[in-house]
Amino acid sequence: MQAYNRIWNFNPGPAALPLEVLEQIHKDWFNHQGAGMNVMEMSHRGKEYEAIHNRTVALVKQLLGLGDDYHILFLQGGASLQFAMLPLNFLVEGKIADYLYVGDWSKKAIKEAKIIGKVNLAFDGEETKFIRLPRQGDLKLTRGAAYVHITSNETIKGTEFFTFPDTDDVPLVADMSSDILSHRFDAKLFSLIYAGAQKNLGPSGVTLVIIKDKFLQSARDGLPTMLSYKTHVAENSLYNTPPTFAIYIMNLVMQWIVDKGGLEGIERANRAKAATLYDYIDSSDGYYKGTVVKDSRSWMNACLRLPNEELEDKFIKEAKAAGFIGLKGHRSVGGVRVSMYNAVPLDAIKDLVGFMKEFKAKNG
Ligand SMILES: *Cc1c(COP(=O)(O)O)cnc(C)c1O
Repeated sequence: MQAYNRIWNFNPGPAALPLEVLEQIHKDWFNHQGAGMNVMEMSHRGKEYEAIHNRTVALVKQLLGLGDDYHILFLQGGASLQFAMLPLNFLVEGKIADYLYVGDWSKKAIKEAKIIGKVNLAFDGEETKFIRLPRQGDLKLTRGAAYVHITSNETIKGTEFFTFPDTDDVPLVADMSSDILSHRFDAKLFSLIYAGAQKNLGPSGVTLVIIKDKFLQSARDGLPTMLSYKTHVAENSLYNTPPTFAIYIMNLVMQWIVDKGGLEGIERANRAKAATLYDYIDSSDGYYKGTVVKDSRSWMNACLRLPNEELEDKFIKEAKAAGFIGLKGHRSVGGVRVSMYNAVPLDAIKDLVGFMKEFKAKNG
């Protein structure tokens, strides 16, 4: 059993938070750093909150190695609002946006973009049942496209990009909701990145958006104020009341990443977690089977099947009784999904693999 009688939490999102972060929130609860109040009670225009807000912006830039040519925004409406805000701002009349269709979340992004403008599917993963990500040669990119959109980690199918498409001079955009800050990558390749916070960054209610200034300059004018990226950049995400408490927690989570050795340290931990789980799956004589091809496997969401659905139901039920929750695959794919975001420690994976071995021995 873990501290405070907590259980191993493999929820796909909202998901586990680092225990150290929860403890810090607990400490700050009645009186945040001498302010005499909880962060929730502070004015978003006061100097105490402003310091938290600006420190969070600085931490994002520090962790991703970004300079003043990038803007950091904290918006609301989830990644799902970004599906619409992105084309509203950039998919202007006469332009086409390229989308890589690699799973359920890219499907939703494509649906919104089609409401607003013209979309080209630069890759259609449906043909291979989403079990692998495209290589550069598979892409049908449009010259002069408004942008190319990828979903860096498909949370439901369990695929993850570790190298990104070469789009020449067309701006590259990514939905990184389920793998942001989980390994090192070159953030400067991207003109825009967005991520709902509730998987790797903090609680639900805040969405991180990172925009390159050059791309922002090409955004359309005349949009409703709240739907324009330019508004939020001009006002440092303080045009209206931002989700202050969620941003405060995001600040703590990013400080926790720094304390773990930054992206390099986090990557080392995530690599070890993924290797521990997948190596066992691959050595289970086919009892547990990964659902996607090896070179497309996600480090964040591992999807697997057991010999039949009855055993899968039994596995999920007995795992829950043994203190492992959140393992049911998404209803659209079935099976088992192990979500192991940054805050899930290696010990949780080791214990789960122990449970998987026992389960196989009893039900093999
Ligand atoms: C969870 C998730 C979303 C949805 O995010 P909301 O904040 O609920 O809108 C979008 N994209 C990906 C890749 C996700 O994992």
